[in-house]
Amino acid sequence: MVDAEMDSLFDLIGENDHEQVVFCNDKSSGLKAIIAIHNTQLGPSLGGTRMWNYASERDALVDALRLSRSMTYKASIIGLDLGGGKAVIIGDSRKDKSEALWTRYGQFVESLNGRYITAEDVGTSTADMETVAKETKHVTGLPESMGGSGDPSPFTAYGVYLGMKASAKKLWGDDNLSGKRIAVQGAGNVGRNLIKYLSEEGAVVLVSDIYEDKLEEIAKEFKVEIVGTEGIYDIDMDIYAPCALGATVDSDTVKRLKCSIIAGGANNQLADENEHADMLMEQGILFAPDFLINAGGLVNVYMQLDGYDKKKVMAHTERIYDLTLDVLNKAEEDGITTVMAAKRMAEARIEASKNNK
Ligand code: NAD
Repeated sequence: MVDAEMDSLFDLIGENDHEQVVFCNDKSSGLKAIIAIHNTQLGPSLGGTRMWNYASERDALVDALRLSRSMTYKASIIGLDLGGGKAVIIGDSRKDKSEALWTRYGQFVESLNGRYITAEDVGTSTADMETVAKETKHVTGLPESMGGSGDPSPFTAYGVYLGMKASAKKLWGDDNLSGKRIAVQGAGNVGRNLIKYLSEEGAVVLVSDIYEDKLEEIAKEFKVEIVGTEGIYDIDMDIYAPCALGATVDSDTVKRLKCSIIAGGANNQLADENEHADMLMEQGILFAPDFLINAGGLVNVYMQLDGYDKKKVMAHTERIYDLTLDVLNKAEEDGITTVMAAKRMAEARIEASKNNK
C-alpha cells in the first residue's frame, strides 16, 4: 500500500478517535473480517458481528467504524460498563458461512484477549456464535440451551417499542399507538418482534423487505400491509420504523418521508448524523436516537456476562422510555437535535469516568 493510501486510512480511523482496528484474513475459509474497537473507557468493547455482501472493502470498514462508535454511545447512555466495538465479515450470509469460517473468526476474537466481545448481528445467529464460542470465551448472545442470553432481538424490539411510545407521548401527549400507521422497514428479527408489539396494541402496520419469503412469513402471522422497498419512503404514515440496515435517512429520503416520528431498531439510521438530524428538526419530524432506543439487545447480551436474569434485563430495558423522554425534553430545552442531546448525555458519562480514574 502506498503512503498516501495509508494516510487516508489513518485519517478515517482517527476521524472519530477509534482505538484499534483489526483486519482478519484467512484464505482457506474465505474469512475477511474487520473488528473495530472505538472506545474502552467504560469497559471492554462489545458489539455484534455483521455478515454482509459489501459493495467494497472500504464500505465494510466504514460500516465497522460507524457501528462501533454507536456501540460506545449505546452502552454509555443505557448505563452499562462497556465500551464500543463491532465486527463485520465480508460475505453473503445465505451462502458463505461454514464451520471453518466461524472457527477461524473465533480464534481472531480470542487473540484480542477480551478487548472485544462479540455477539450476533445482521446476517449472523446464535447458532453461529455457538461455533465461535468453541474458540473464545469472549462471546455472548449464546443460545439459552448453553446457559446463554439467547437471541437479543426480542429485547431490542421491546426497547424500540418503548422508545416509540415515549416519542408519541412527547409529540401527541398520549403514548397509545392504536390506530397509528407505522411503517416497519425490514421483516427480520427485530422487525418481526416489533410488529408483534405494534399489532397487539392495534397499530396499522405496513412492512417492507427485500426478500419475499420474509414478507410471506410475516403476513401469515400478523395483519400487515406490504409496501415496496422504495415506496416505503413515500407512503402516508405516522411513524417510520427503520429495522433493516443503516443510512436510510439521507438527503433524498428525508424530503420524501411523510411521518411525524422516526423510531426504529436499525443502527445508524441517519446517513449523516449532523446534516440529516438538522433537516429532520427543520421539517418537524421527531427522531428517536437509534443508539438509545435499540439498546435492549445490548442489555440482554451484557447480562450473560454478569449472571443472566431475564427480569433484570426487562427492568433495565424499561429505562428506555424515561431516557427517551429525557433526551427529547433536553433537545427541546437546548434547541438542539435529539441526536446531539443523546450524544451529550452519553459523552458526559464517559468523561466522568475518565475523571474518576
Ligand atoms: P435481520 O438480518 O434479522 O433483519 C434485517 C431485515 O432487513 C432482513 O429481513 C433483510 O432482508 C431486510 N432488509 C435489508 N435491506 C432492506 C431494505 N433495503 N428494505 C427492506 N428490508 C431490508 O437483522 P436484525 O437483527 O433484525 O437487525 C435489524 C437492524 O437492527 C440492524 O440494523 C441491526 O444492526 C439493528 N440492531 C439489531 C439488534 C438485535 O438485537 N438484533 C440490536 C440492535 C440493533
